[in-house]
Amino acid sequence: MSNEESVKKVLTLADVKTGEYGVIVRITGHGSFRHRLMEMGFVRGEKVKVIRNAPLRDPIEYEIMQGHVSLRRIEAQRVEVVPVTEEVANNYLFHGTITEETERILGKEGKRINVALVGNPNCGKTSFFNHATGMREKVGNYSGVTVDSKLGYFKYKDYTIALADLPGTYSLTEYTPEELYVRQYIMDQHPDIVLNIVDASNLERNLFLTTQLIDMNVPMVMALNMYDELEKNGDKLDLDTLSELFGFPIVPTVSSRGVGIDDVMAKIVDLYENLEESTKHIHINYGADLEKSIGIIKEEMREHLDLSGAYSTRYLAIEMLAGDKTIAALVDKFDDDGSVGKVAAEQRAQIEKQYHEDAGTIVADAKYGFVRGALLETYTQGKDKDKQPAYSIDKILTNRWLGFPILVFFLWFMFQMTFTLGAYPQEWLEMFFGWLGGVTSRVLPDGIVKNLLVDGIIAGVGGVCSFLPNILILFFFISILEDTGYMARAAFIMDKLMHRMGLHGKSFIPYIIGFGCSVPAIMATRTLENRKDRILTIITVPFMSCSARLPVYLLLISAFFAKHQGLILTFIYLLGILTAVVTSLVVKKAAFKNERDQFVMELPPYRIPTFRNAVVHMWDKSVQYLKKMGTVILVATVIIWALEYFPQHSPQIDAYTAQIEQVEADGAMPEAEKTAVIAQLELDRSACQIENSYIGRFGKFVAPVFRPLGFDWQMGVSLITGFAAKEIVVSSMGVLYHSDAEADENSSALQKSLQTHTWSSGPDAGKPVFTPWVAFGFMVFILLYFPCVAALTAIKREAGTRWMLFNIFYTTGIAWLAAFAVRLLSGMF
Ligand code: GDP
Ligand code: MG
Repeated sequence: MSNEESVKKVLTLADVKTGEYGVIVRITGHGSFRHRLMEMGFVRGEKVKVIRNAPLRDPIEYEIMQGHVSLRRIEAQRVEVVPVTEEVANNYLFHGTITEETERILGKEGKRINVALVGNPNCGKTSFFNHATGMREKVGNYSGVTVDSKLGYFKYKDYTIALADLPGTYSLTEYTPEELYVRQYIMDQHPDIVLNIVDASNLERNLFLTTQLIDMNVPMVMALNMYDELEKNGDKLDLDTLSELFGFPIVPTVSSRGVGIDDVMAKIVDLYENLEESTKHIHINYGADLEKSIGIIKEEMREHLDLSGAYSTRYLAIEMLAGDKTIAALVDKFDDDGSVGKVAAEQRAQIEKQYHEDAGTIVADAKYGFVRGALLETYTQGKDKDKQPAYSIDKILTNRWLGFPILVFFLWFMFQMTFTLGAYPQEWLEMFFGWLGGVTSRVLPDGIVKNLLVDGIIAGVGGVCSFLPNILILFFFISILEDTGYMARAAFIMDKLMHRMGLHGKSFIPYIIGFGCSVPAIMATRTLENRKDRILTIITVPFMSCSARLPVYLLLISAFFAKHQGLILTFIYLLGILTAVVTSLVVKKAAFKNERDQFVMELPPYRIPTFRNAVVHMWDKSVQYLKKMGTVILVATVIIWALEYFPQHSPQIDAYTAQIEQVEADGAMPEAEKTAVIAQLELDRSACQIENSYIGRFGKFVAPVFRPLGFDWQMGVSLITGFAAKEIVVSSMGVLYHSDAEADENSSALQKSLQTHTWSSGPDAGKPVFTPWVAFGFMVFILLYFPCVAALTAIKREAGTRWMLFNIFYTTGIAWLAAFAVRLLSGMF
């Protein structure tokens, strides 16, 4: 194959005419676009026939791999092909691998890799370039006078590498001509591979540029240059982990001596041929606020821009949010009505108002947070040096010995504050709803409306409302911990432990939120990049005992355990955590065997939290909870009320009514006695009514399921009403054990009736239903079973129906088994 003949004409797919053929040479565009086209079959060496390409017609129709696909014209312009005749095309079959035949057709073009050298000034780009190309460019400080790139060609194996030595830059923004030039080069020339040269003796500053390349989503190989310096300093860098965290290959080099250049080339070829398995595209996580804004800008872009693969929308959104004018102007050219610019400006203004800082600085801070997180995990400094005084506080907070006790202290403090501070407003709310119920029942005439309002809505929603202060306070503290940047450190400290569970350090934050309410906790898993981590966290979060279950524990513990109350409560919480650990390990083994799970944990800068931000973030988390109260809980309360209320008549109930009327009419009985007798009769009547109601009948129907656990049908029904929301369990028990109508406002009445409640039939007839063991088993069941409807809806939305169904059956099954185990244990003592 002679070189002269093998130089082929290259067209873009958009320029090939109807009925003609081409063989694909390369696809330009950002990473996910290339990926999408590859999935459609557009890979190097594949042949394409143009089915219909009329001028001005969009989209264009192609035949590829025996199937028809259409591409929009601007997409087709990103696919470069060598045109071939029909005869050649008919004799050529591509089987997914490059053959000699492919090479003959593509000629030199098929073996040419365009590589761009990008890095800080003086990191050794030109030395690399000279060694690789054999050219003699001047090595030393880049003068910065001419902003230009040197292009050199050389052979590596049978590939021609076109290597561009770009000017050195610290960043890819728009502040210097060099920066603009390099960025423009990458965005317009679409090099096949960006070779990021990094000065290993100055990682933090050098990796900042890397974060921008990651945002741009370009195929990348990193040369970790000056590796000799790193070793001389006694520093250590875990290259394998770093490479896994970043999602691209990293090769150590000493480019002044030409060490490692062949290894870099080998990686470049592998990446070009899609043989490099370690690659994945990662996102730098900018934190909840910025990510929300980025999402909004991207959404606007999706509606108004037609970029089709030229640029990553995420990248453009980040730069617009940071206030980059050049990118804004570029986007505006594609924008049909200028709305993207407007939305971006709005988001930027909002972020700046919230943080009192320039948006560009906030974005840059987040990038440094990413770099610091990656380095904290992989980099150990030589003994005698101490280069990062600015974040020395991290040395304490993430210290191997101090970090954990500090974390435990903060968490203890947070929960302590939540429940002590929360007790006051909780009491006020309970008083308010008690008063409201009283007034309503005095004002309204007896009947169904009054009953619905007082026993249904006010009692049900009121009971739930009284937890609101706890939830708000907990979320307020969590928001403060997040806003200061401490939560990220907490995730870091927990990472090792969480890894043992097959989880990621970042799962720790949803777990903590889960003690408040599962719904925002499940939403908070969105910061986890990896689907495996997300799913595992989502399905185990409900085992973190949410605050709605607490009143059930409090009721039973104070009724049946005189001593060690705190210990028992702690044990329940720990049991939940243990179940989460075991579940996570088992599910990981069963469902996600081969998934890799290394991600950078960003260490955002420490900030003084502002009250306003903490409130905003608290509100974000609470909104879901409030929605649940306004909808699910309200509806469920009404349904449960109706199931309890109807039917109102049966021969037995009517008999009680008649008896009451008789007593009332009895002139001989003294007033005091009369009232007492009537009260007793009314209580008996309502017990009879509930037993006869739909829910009572249903409870009796399912009672055999709960019987082996030592639960009576009232407990079974209470558990079932907890499907709607766990808060409802206590008020259901209040009704079912007919202490009196306000039982949930006045627990002691309910406690008494629980203590004295006996089996009415069966082998245990006459014996008390509740023993400390039964109460304990019931708490265990409450802890583990079926999360509420709102949490399940969240699971479905975030993880899919399959995982939601899994969760329903798994949690309930585990709950039953655990309660049964408690029952068996009780027989042994
Ligand atoms: P550029 O600005 O990125 O093009 O960097 P140069 O290639 O001009 O190199 C800057 C300086 O670093 C020169 O003095 C090189 O000799 C030196 N240098 C380049 N690579 C290495 C290396 O791997 N180790 C050491 N110790 N010095 C290097
Ligand atoms: Mg140079």
